[in-house]
Amino acid sequence: MSKHSNEAVEGDDGGLVICRGCKTRGTYAEPPSGECPAPYKPERVLLAESLAREKALQLHLNAADQRIDELTQSKAEPETVWCACGDGHAANSYGAGFMAANSGVCENCDAAKPRVESSHEIPGTSGMRLNMLATQGE
Ligand SMILES: [Zn+2]
Ligand SMILES: [Zn+2]
Repeated sequence: MSKHSNEAVEGDDGGLVICRGCKTRGTYAEPPSGECPAPYKPERVLLAESLAREKALQLHLNAADQRIDELTQSKAEPETVWCACGDGHAANSYGAGFMAANSGVCENCDAAKPRVESSHEIPGTSGMRLNMLATQGE
């Protein structure tokens, strides 16, 4: 419940008053009554309030920044894709891409395996693999 902060309107001869907060006008006989929707506050109070608001916002901002940092870090942390031979490759690395294109077999395994060359037919997986190698510029 806030009362109006009535003050006399300077230089007015009608005995008028005005609320310094909500600017509602009245007279000495009938000043603004009821609850003031915008209570008058001294400048030092307004300043203190605005500083407190700023501080709260800054804390909020810092928390948000920290949250973004945490998200960025967890996103940057690479997952490892493991091959049956025990070789691990960081997700999004060339090695992981190689494994994805070769049914989960890493490039080290692939090098150890004998290559089956076919002159008349390229199996689907080999075709994919060739495309993969071509796009990766090997
Ligand atoms: Zn008022
Ligand atoms: Zn392997």
